[in-house]
Amino acid sequence: ARHADAARFELAVDYQQAGLLDRSEQYWMELVEGRSPFAPAALEELIALAEQGQDWPQAITWATQLASIKGQSQANRIAHYHCQRAEQALARSEFDVAMKAAKQAQSHDGGSVRARWLQGQILSRQGEPAAAVTRFVSAAELDARFLEDLVPAIEACCAVVDDPVLQAQAFEDLNAMHPNAPTLVVAAAAQRRAQGEDPLPTLTRGLKNAPTRALLKAFLAEIEPRPETESMGMRASAAAMHAALERMEQSVAAFRCEHCGFTPRNRFWQCPSCRQWGTIHRLPDQIG
Ligand SMILES: [Zn+2]
Repeated sequence: ARHADAARFELAVDYQQAGLLDRSEQYWMELVEGRSPFAPAALEELIALAEQGQDWPQAITWATQLASIKGQSQANRIAHYHCQRAEQALARSEFDVAMKAAKQAQSHDGGSVRARWLQGQILSRQGEPAAAVTRFVSAAELDARFLEDLVPAIEACCAVVDDPVLQAQAFEDLNAMHPNAPTLVVAAAAQRRAQGEDPLPTLTRGLKNAPTRALLKAFLAEIEPRPETESMGMRASAAAMHAALERMEQSVAAFRCEHCGFTPRNRFWQCPSCRQWGTIHRLPDQIG
């Protein structure tokens, strides 16, 4: 039987390569139903097909079967499939469907930053910015690498609510979770500036702690328009440094897949190169 299954699997691969996807899919499904030793490999192929067709409910079904056959959790990818469903629903402004899917994602993978981030996005779109802030903060708690994405989302929601207490509390929580995170230092400097205080000491302290391009950029943007800079004849120099920094930013890779090393310019939840889920992260913009 193993021989026959092997032949069947080979045949399915041939059909797939010939573009006869219906036939290869049929063979793979038979291997799964027959509980063949090739069932896990067949399921991986079926999952890849469902992913290509963006048929997330089908992908969830196959991944669930794979988990039970292999006795190995597929929670990470299943959570991403629910997030894909949530994003599709959000794009159609079906907020309840989207929220349900995002919560299912979280129930499969409690450590999914994406699931909480999405819940925040859904609440924000629904006109619940204060509730959205809570979700964004809880997403940031899981992984500091997402602060660069989550802090602007939090700031945007706080601006809508216009409640200084909400904003102060959110950033107090974020600072307690990730003390001295450069993104939070930049945000703190902007808040000081909005309150009519000098943001330079904050930025200087941040640069001493952990110099990043974003911090340096904020620092230069701050000193560039100052009259002291002008009176010292330094405005053109500051502007040139600022421009050089921006050019550098464009030439440096922003994201990287932890699994295969692919460096895309934008975030992908599924790596276009190795097809892994959730392996692409922002590269830290630390200087040195
Ligand atoms: Zn990859």
